Amino acid sequence: MTDDQRADNPYAHVADDAFAATPRRDPELVKRILDDPRMHDHKDGFQSCIQCGVCTSGCPAARFTEYSPREVARRALDGDVTLLEDDTLWYCYYCYTCQSRCPRHNSVAVINQVVRGMQVESGRGRAHVEMFAEWCGAFYDKGMGGDPHLMFPAIGEAWGDKWTDFMAHLLEIREELGLGDLYPPDDVVKEVQTIFEETGFKERLAAVRGESVPAETAAEEG
Ligand code: SF4
Ligand code: SF4
Repeated sequence: MTDDQRADNPYAHVADDAFAATPRRDPELVKRILDDPRMHDHKDGFQSCIQCGVCTSGCPAARFTEYSPREVARRALDGDVTLLEDDTLWYCYYCYTCQSRCPRHNSVAVINQVVRGMQVESGRGRAHVEMFAEWCGAFYDKGMGGDPHLMFPAIGEAWGDKWTDFMAHLLEIREELGLGDLYPPDDVVKEVQTIFEETGFKERLAAVRGESVPAETAAEEG
């Protein structure tokens, strides 16, 4: 491909790795992806990817960045451990176009979820998720992630006094309308917390925040 052709072709980067050698292989990476419950419906597709590039051709992230889902599908199947250090995976925003169009029923969206989770576990991916820690912490504490009270000042600043006044009287207005409390009841919050604890979410959140999990909690969760 000439430089002029490259300049005219937004997908030029996609061809670059087509026959690239795999630097480091780890069968354990392939196994982790295959064993992940989210891959349940995509195991056969994952292992029979034909590198057709349909995923990349419809991927909005590939259109505007150097990220390529077809490349991710190949590297994941190769057990290429450089995926665990690849920041371009974070350009994917789970629109699932790749999954819906793949002729083999593979899902690069799900592969990314698994590998990104591994990046967070190792610490590599934390910078990409720590911005959500406050939201997740509110979800654990109150059963509702998008805690409006965290956004009130910014909303008031953007929308003016009328909104600030409305939010200041929100609970009274809800009561008058018979809508009840803004937050879920305690028993519901407890159920949410149990799910977060049983699935390891709480531990992962602590890691993202740079906190250590209390020994007894870690033992209970283990
Ligand atoms: S569309 Fe499916 S089969 Fe084609 S390259 Fe992407 S993952 Fe592989
Ligand atoms: S889910 Fe991710 S990889 Fe798939 S098309 Fe959307 S942005 Fe691209």
